[in-house]
Amino acid sequence: MHFSRIRLTGFKSFVDPTDLIIHDGLTGVVGPNGCGKSNLLEALRWVMGENRPTAMRGGGMEDVIFAGAATRPARNFAEVSLHIDNRNRLAPPGFNDEDQIEIVRRITRDVGSAYKANARDVRARDVQMLFADASTGAHSPALVRQGQISELINAKPKNRRRILEEAAGISGLYQRRHEAELK
Ligand code: ATP
Ligand code: MG
Repeated sequence: MHFSRIRLTGFKSFVDPTDLIIHDGLTGVVGPNGCGKSNLLEALRWVMGENRPTAMRGGGMEDVIFAGAATRPARNFAEVSLHIDNRNRLAPPGFNDEDQIEIVRRITRDVGSAYKANARDVRARDVQMLFADASTGAHSPALVRQGQISELINAKPKNRRRILEEAAGISGLYQRRHEAELK
């Protein structure tokens, strides 16, 4: 799956709609301290279904909404849209009938998060599964947070195994088995 575009609106410091076209070969984002590089990566993680506020460096999930600045009032919602090029048909069944997939997550104050896939309402779980199966999910080892390497070195074997399973693309299977056992 190839990500072709990400759009942030009211997400953290990206108050006005901001589009990033992701061309082949993009390997890094550079800029001065505080310009929003980490916020951009967090937006990517968030639209893939991240549900831990701590992974967003916040106390609660609504902290991702633009909180206001000296000259700009706070917003009531944040939205991130991710375009996926699916011409190679690698997306799992249920998502796999179109060339382009657009996933949108929006959080509204006092309401919570809602997800859409190609303008159709979907559950958080559907989106998390889409990315878990493609090994790019919110917990994917492809996204390395600051401090994560030392965490990996110091991790307990069980937690380290989870990272390897995500890299091997089998964590979606584990999630389904876990849910089957609960039924
Ligand atoms: P560094 O090079 O230091 O790692 P960075 O480019 O990664 O910097 P970020 O951490 O992405 O920078 O951005 C930090 C900025 O985002 C800060 O100015 C912070 O005030 C702003 N910010 C974070 N959350 C919000 C929010 N909810 N509303 C408004 N601004 C926010
Ligand atoms: Mg940073």
